[in-house]
Formats: sequence, C-alpha cells, structure tokens
Amino acid sequence: MKSIIEYISGIYRGLRSLLIGMSVTGKYFFSPRAIVTQQYPENRHGHGKRSKKQLVMFDRFKGEVVMPHDANNQHKCTGCGICEINCPNGTIEIISVSKVGEDGKKKRAIEKHIYRLGMCSFCALCVKTCPSKALEFSQEFEHAVFDRTKLVKVLNKPGSSLMKGVE
Ligand code: SF4
Ligand code: SF4
Repeated sequence: MKSIIEYISGIYRGLRSLLIGMSVTGKYFFSPRAIVTQQYPENRHGHGKRSKKQLVMFDRFKGEVVMPHDANNQHKCTGCGICEINCPNGTIEIISVSKVGEDGKKKRAIEKHIYRLGMCSFCALCVKTCPSKALEFSQEFEHAVFDRTKLVKVLNKPGSSLMKGVE
C-alpha cells in the first residue's frame, strides 16, 4: 500500500514540476517582449543595417582584461608582477625593466604587460589584487579571430608611461 502511495505521489510531483516549467515557457511564448535574449548581430553596437537599438552589456559582464590609459597615454601599472603571480593559469606575463627614477633610486617599470585572452578564465584575481588598480574588465565580447596569436595582447600601449603619483 505504501509503495502505491509513493508511486502516485511521484507522478503528482513530476506532473507539477512539468507544469511549472511549461508555464515559464508559455509566459515567454505569449509575451515575447519579456525575453532577455539579445538579437545578434543585428543590434551589435547599433551598426548593423537592420539595427534598431544598441546592444548594452550588463555592468558585471567580463569581456576581457584591459589597462585603462588617460589622455596623456599614462597608466597605473608599476610592473610589480603581483597579477602575474596571482593568475591561476599563466595568462599574464610581465616583462619589466629597472629604471632610475627622478629621485635617483632604482625602480621597476613595465616594459610589456602580456595578456593571453585565449587562456583567461575571467576569475578577476588579477583585477582584484592589483595594488594600483591598473586593470579592469572591458565589456568587449567580439573576440572571434582566425589567428589565435591575435588573442595575445600587450595591455600597456606603445609609448605609454606610469601616471604621476602611482608608486
Ligand atoms: S597590472 Fe597591477 S599587479 Fe599587474 S604588474 Fe601592473 S601594477 Fe602590478
Ligand atoms: S582574470 Fe583570472 S585568468 Fe584572467 S588574467 Fe586575470 S587572473 Fe588570469
């Protein structure tokens, strides 16, 4: 008797779960405006011929690690190497040089901040542990390339230098 009751209640729970799932599908079927899926590439950056609106990514979206530069081509990367040490999968490689500063003391300076986008797991450890907040995530999402070497990027721009006041 007990097993029959369990069998029937199992069927009831299964049907109830099915109806809950179908009600969600039905809601989007009858109100398609509620669907959050974006049309792509029609509305990418508003450039497409059939584009009606600009695709806006969510604030927390992690597209790729970037190093912001100001109008004077200056960044906040000191070349300390902390992001390289903290990256769990060797995505970052810091090539730095030793330079004599204005105060006559030797200081480390970034030569190349190499970032291998194809290896990045977007864990954000580099961004969170950088002591000078030199890194952030961009919202760029179009990363498809035919040549994977294009996924290896140098984040500090050519001719750039360290912002004054950043140690
Ligand atoms: S990005 Fe930040 S943590 Fe990485 S080398 Fe530059 S200053 Fe150091
Ligand atoms: S987000 Fe994570 S995996 Fe990507 S470079 Fe930073 S630390 Fe490495």
